[in-house]
Amino acid sequence: MTEIESSLVPADTHARVARKIDIVVIGAGQAGLSSAYHLSRLGLSPHVQYVVIDRSPQPGGAWQFRWPSLTLSTVNGIHDLPGMKFAEAVDTSKGEVHAAVAVPQYYGAYERAFELPVRRPVAVSVVCERGERFRVETDAGVYAARGIINATGTWEAPYIPPYPGAELFKGRQLHTKDYQTADAFAGQRVLVVGGGISAIQLLDEISKVASTTWVTREEPAFRDTPFTPEVGRAAVAMVEERVRRGLPPGSVVSVTGIPITPAILAARARGALDRQPMFAEITASGVRWPDGREQAFDVILWSTGFRSALDHLAPLQLRNADGGILMTGRLATQVANDPRIHLVGYGPSASTIGANRAGGAAARELAEHLQLL
Ligand SMILES: Cc1cc2nc3c(=O)[nH]c(=O)nc-3n(C[C@H](O)[C@H](O)[C@H](O)COP(=O)(O)OP(=O)(O)OC[C@H]3O[C@@H](n4cnc5c(N)ncnc54)[C@H](O)[C@@H]3O)c2cc1C
Repeated sequence: MTEIESSLVPADTHARVARKIDIVVIGAGQAGLSSAYHLSRLGLSPHVQYVVIDRSPQPGGAWQFRWPSLTLSTVNGIHDLPGMKFAEAVDTSKGEVHAAVAVPQYYGAYERAFELPVRRPVAVSVVCERGERFRVETDAGVYAARGIINATGTWEAPYIPPYPGAELFKGRQLHTKDYQTADAFAGQRVLVVGGGISAIQLLDEISKVASTTWVTREEPAFRDTPFTPEVGRAAVAMVEERVRRGLPPGSVVSVTGIPITPAILAARARGALDRQPMFAEITASGVRWPDGREQAFDVILWSTGFRSALDHLAPLQLRNADGGILMTGRLATQVANDPRIHLVGYGPSASTIGANRAGGAAARELAEHLQLL
């Protein structure tokens, strides 16, 4: 049996006996694949074994679930994974390419090219500590791991802020995560909540077929100056500084602003981006504004972002009273209270470029810590 085949041997499915392994990487999106690539290139001792566990049905991380109108030209930009260019796997020369098709194609080609030991669809339900090792429970058995690289992204943790009356609303409430196509809202009265890029993209599409109202807590931070690498670095530095102090990561858009695109200019000209301050409460038929006026809606679409999907790590009690996790290490991927755990794609590495670099740092630091080199 080759090293890769042996690392694909499932954990013991029925018995509670755990299969011993050195590292479990949880998640096979950009962050997990980058980590796995670097683990495969570090020159680990021959007996060392690691596995990548991914709950999704196919390669692509969260990209496989994104709405069909999200194309490579409407996303911010998907950075190449280390060792293989996007263009080597996807032909982008023939017009618009759907992100939900192209990225899975790229990640699939990547996994095959580097023979990464990915097991899917396998979900990690919980990770807890058992002496020297972690007990990683999955729906396909249990692993006893010496180290964890967690790369589970945010898609599984949509965030809807609590507002009074939300449970009374008789219409439909959904989150960005549920969005597929604007046609589903044709002719309806839609309230879009949220001031980020996704809110604006969905508002732009829905406002062409429905009556939309847009609310945000703060004035949206549009930027009409170019998005330079310095702006990007400043945003990442801000988030890194927060997680190194144990604070929740915070919003990158608050630093970078929302770049004004031709689509945004056109939506503005149509009056689709006339933003209102937040409503006072949600009612059975819509919302009540601060001046007491009621307005009816058929749909409330919460484009209010995502949080890190870390519930399966709850028994490890990584979070402090602020809800943050104190991070350390070269690129702030290492959990300060337990150096055997790295979080990649969390905080400053929650972008395709950040996940790439962080995967390299996490792989090396964890291998060194566990003396696997
Ligand atoms: C609408 C939208 C557009 C975006 N556009 C951009 C962009 O243009 N450029 C950019 O750099 N970033 C963008 N981002 C951010 C982007 O999601 C990240 O940059 C990056 O793709 C996330 O990679 P990841 O590996 O951290 O997470 P994901 O791609 O979410 O991968 C996580 C993987 O972990 C798996 N997983 C989760 N929980 C478990 C579990 N318990 N057990 C097993 N497996 C699990 C999931 O199935 C998934 O395959 C966007 C985000 C959103 C929501």
